[in-house]
Amino acid sequence: MRAFVKGLAWFVAGCAVFAFVSCSTQRSGLTILRASTGSGFSDCSTTYGDPSLVEGGVAKANPEWEKANLVMVRLPWRAHTAWDPKLAIRSLQVHRQAAPSLQRAMAAIWMRSGESQAEIDRLGLSSIGGGYNWRAIRSGGALSTHAYGCAVDFDPNRNALGDTSPNFALPQNRYVIEAFRTEGWRWGGVWPTPDGMHFQAP
Ligand SMILES: [Zn+2]
Repeated sequence: MRAFVKGLAWFVAGCAVFAFVSCSTQRSGLTILRASTGSGFSDCSTTYGDPSLVEGGVAKANPEWEKANLVMVRLPWRAHTAWDPKLAIRSLQVHRQAAPSLQRAMAAIWMRSGESQAEIDRLGLSSIGGGYNWRAIRSGGALSTHAYGCAVDFDPNRNALGDTSPNFALPQNRYVIEAFRTEGWRWGGVWPTPDGMHFQAP
């Protein structure tokens, strides 16, 4: 009898999960259709200024620009670098103009997760790929949006560049993308070359 009750409980729970997943899948389908497919590298310098300093014909990071524009945004949850779980990360360094919306997006996710570190770990948001980073994009000489401090990367191990089914696209993880979209941020997972780890300020 006890086994039967247990089996029944699992069946009911299974149905609830199935109903939730089907509903979310339909919603995420609509989201994908609405998503923009721009590459996002167009006018960062107009909004965020030129972060480079050219000396002797060689471009590098500009300490003056960094000092004037970069701020630290505290993570609501515990986190570490994606390449070493023992290296703790407390904040993300971004452009001051991108900071308030980043803070709001992360606060919304934290609330939706029930302020659960386990849920944040499941989503992959405790694995940090980076924020500000003065560097060229991987495919060419142009500056990465990370060089302007207007992009952050989460969980690169399960949302790699070029991966057409990144982990954030799963129905149960899509509220992360929605939280960023609400703040006008774009998600790289829908770009022609998908970059699922990448979230970018407007
Ligand atoms: Zn990125």
